[in-house]
Amino acid sequence: MAVSRRKFISGSGLVAASVAAFPHIARPADAAATRSGQKPSKIIHLVADGMSLATLSMADQLAHLSRKRGLAWLDLHRRAGAHHGLMDMRSLSSLVTDSSAASSSWGSGSRIVNGTVNILPDGRELTTLYELFGQAGWKRGLVTTTEITHATPAGFATKGLKREAAESIATQYLDRGVEVLLGGGRKFFDKTKRKDKRDVYTEYRVKDYALLNESADLAAAPLDKRWLGTFAASHLPFTVDHTHDTKLAKSIPTLAAMTQRALEKLARHERFILQVEGGRVDHGCHMNDAAAAFFDQIAFDEALEVCLEFQRQHADTLLVITTDHSTGNPGLNGTGLRYGLSPLLFSNLLEVKASFSEILKKLSPPEERDKKPEPVTDPAKIAAIIKEAIGYEITPRRAKLLVPFIKKEGEPIYNLMNTLTCQLGQLMANYTGVGWTSGAHTSDYVPISAIGPGAERFAGFIQNTDVFRHYTNLAGIDFRNPESPLVGAVSPDSGILSPHWMA
Ligand SMILES: [Zn+2]
Repeated sequence: MAVSRRKFISGSGLVAASVAAFPHIARPADAAATRSGQKPSKIIHLVADGMSLATLSMADQLAHLSRKRGLAWLDLHRRAGAHHGLMDMRSLSSLVTDSSAASSSWGSGSRIVNGTVNILPDGRELTTLYELFGQAGWKRGLVTTTEITHATPAGFATKGLKREAAESIATQYLDRGVEVLLGGGRKFFDKTKRKDKRDVYTEYRVKDYALLNESADLAAAPLDKRWLGTFAASHLPFTVDHTHDTKLAKSIPTLAAMTQRALEKLARHERFILQVEGGRVDHGCHMNDAAAAFFDQIAFDEALEVCLEFQRQHADTLLVITTDHSTGNPGLNGTGLRYGLSPLLFSNLLEVKASFSEILKKLSPPEERDKKPEPVTDPAKIAAIIKEAIGYEITPRRAKLLVPFIKKEGEPIYNLMNTLTCQLGQLMANYTGVGWTSGAHTSDYVPISAIGPGAERFAGFIQNTDVFRHYTNLAGIDFRNPESPLVGAVSPDSGILSPHWMA
């Protein structure tokens, strides 16, 4: 994108066409909190990655059981001044988006092919939200429970890549000078782990970044420096593992703690934009692991509470809360006489002490440098490992059904269930009542809520690309990226069914 095409206009009067196309329905109670036309000087974009409406519902139900209090996101539905809508997240190449095309649609206002980051099929790179906001003088932050180089944070600040290019994403953040980077993914910065052996940590330090490795570093981080916090080699642990391991709980911060500190730092500046991602909700759903997904959704909600408190103190803050797609579409199924067994089964989630990810390490241990560990195939041992992690006593016959999947020789009835974790998910459905459609993303329209100046733009039915237009417009930035037409730009087998999907 040529620099000359970038044009900034401060002030108002740049209402995007999409706003006019989807006017919100005015509610009388809204007037006090968010008068139409007000503009924020702080924007917080919260994403619970891979969250279906059922995940939100069941996390709320589980929160009532585990902490006697529901979710703040649902409380927001009762609050005057908050606006709510649904959003179509489809990508250029499919009705079912992946996280990189989803985040890029918000980050550039242009739909792209799944698996890529801010680049059109013809190779044209897209200008990102964080480049535009940086040039307009806004500070920028990315906070996530995944690797910081993962698709959702990457979509706001990096471009011209495949989503797997994590090493390049790590250096693009540095090129852009993103002020706050907190998450996992040490291996993409460490010269001993990077393929190109580049000493990226030192490059960050030279550019005045404080390097943070654990909770204590975050608590003591100097507010006048930029921050790169990488708190794990890869993703941060699932909440269910984090809370049951005192060592992890002490050394690795929660999403709420990272968000709190990011806001303390960014609030020193007049204008900032921050993305906060509960990234492992998606991973729990991919694995069909209800406890991993729902406890991470609750942890995401605790980060939202931090942001809501910040918004109470800083009325010029726009909060937008959403997800990028649903994953696995879980559901608490009606079981027993008049469905009376469902609540009892659901409460078994409170017995879970470890994620499927931890069970997997025991059933099918990863290869180490000098030894190839044997997968566990003895049904009694399999049952014991599951009982210890989850509290569920399975029969040897059921344990035996898992063996082919442990040995990676399984033959599922439904192809998309061909993983050990999806089989574990089905097994667990007998215990918790929570079943799944697959271990993949789905095409659901996603919920979106907003509060603060500009929130009214996120009501009704909107498109993913509208988010970019609203953010840039609210910041007084006049910029539009090129777009590819949905039909014709992609191959016939890419998921486009008929031209009416272009609407
Ligand atoms: Zn995602």
